Amino acid sequence: MTTVGLIGWRGMVGSVLIERMRAECDFDLVEPTFFSTSKAGSKGPAIGREVPPVADAHDLKALAANAVLVSCQGSDYTSEVYPKLRASGWDGYWIDAAKTLRMNDDAVIVLDPVNRPLIDNALAKGIKNYIGSNCTVSCMLMGMHGLFERDLVEWMTCMTYQAASGGGAQHMRELLTQFGLINAEVRNLLADPASAILEIDRRVLAKQTDGTLPMEQFGGVPLAGNLIPWIDNDLGNGVSLEEWKGGAESNKILGRGADYGAPATPIDSLCVRIGAMRCHSQALTIKLKRDVPLDEVARIIASANEWVRVVPNDRESSIRELTPAAVTGRMQIAVGRLRKLSMGSEYLAAFTVGDQLLWGAAEPLRRMLRILLEAGMLSRGKGRTGKRGAAAVGA
Ligand code: NAP
Repeated sequence: MTTVGLIGWRGMVGSVLIERMRAECDFDLVEPTFFSTSKAGSKGPAIGREVPPVADAHDLKALAANAVLVSCQGSDYTSEVYPKLRASGWDGYWIDAAKTLRMNDDAVIVLDPVNRPLIDNALAKGIKNYIGSNCTVSCMLMGMHGLFERDLVEWMTCMTYQAASGGGAQHMRELLTQFGLINAEVRNLLADPASAILEIDRRVLAKQTDGTLPMEQFGGVPLAGNLIPWIDNDLGNGVSLEEWKGGAESNKILGRGADYGAPATPIDSLCVRIGAMRCHSQALTIKLKRDVPLDEVARIIASANEWVRVVPNDRESSIRELTPAAVTGRMQIAVGRLRKLSMGSEYLAAFTVGDQLLWGAAEPLRRMLRILLEAGMLSRGKGRTGKRGAAAVGA
């Protein structure tokens, strides 16, 4: 069986990946080794059969014994370990959730329902790096797949509402702890129906701002009862790294831009962290290349892939079916609030919400592993080392 090393399986993305691999019986097809940077020697996750103790994720020799490595550990880990591994001569397939390698010429961003031809082309060329996209990008493209496939999008803006879990396991814990401490501050007042709401409000604000809430994960500001209109690094030009990824990664996935001989589609965003636990939502404004009737737009979107689901644009459907709580843990990408904007019949509004840990992170990686297994690209038995394979990805 194919040897596959799984790094970062304890985290948010990694846990969901293991869950999905179990559900799809992927472990029947591979011989897994679980790696950790902090828990080497401990017991691995339950996959229905005995697995060796967790290996050290810095042990290059143990890593290189695998034909495929799947990392959900994070970008610092990839930046540190990946170059050493390639320099040591390891020639296996690297599948990664982190941003580090995404824009490299010798890497493909994988979202196979949308860009399978690009993936197949890269495999044929001997490309060895297959990287998951930014979570909002994957969820947006899964939802808007049909419009891009028919080349209907002139430009698009994405206003995002991103959940705490986008930052990882520790961010979810911090948000919940903040909620709990704020609630504790006003619990007695809440229990008294006659208490003054302005007093409750004052105490909540005091708790949010007195510096006693845990705030390490969200950059020293509270998220509970608040929002944070900046995600990831500051590029110094008024744009956050998260916003830059929206345009750059979307176009790379779609095979557009200078490297592909096709004009890039302008896609720009404002990315905002909100206090949802899981699922990223986005309000989209789309300038269509031509006036397409709304019912046809809905049909094009709904039929693009088997996971997109169009929610009728009415109050009841929207508040019940187009929310993080409705979509969490589901493979569906919900698209709703479809309507033409008052600016003109070519201006389309849409709202989309998807579980960013599934289609936004774990699922494209899991499916890429399957593609490798099914394409017969892998040596049986232990992993190979050999010459570096780094041809550039073309159109
Ligand atoms: P995470 O939850 O913070 O986990 C990352 C690693 O932290 C774990 O694999 C684990 O590695 C270590 N860790 C330390 N203490 C832990 C604890 N108490 N519980 C669990 N893990 C702990 O990060 P993540 O959200 O999974 O993200 C992993 C990568 O995927 C990042 O590069 C991220 O940018 C990317 N990504 C994330 C999302 C998302 O929605 N979260 C979406 C797309 C891409 P060791 O076993 O080595 O200690």
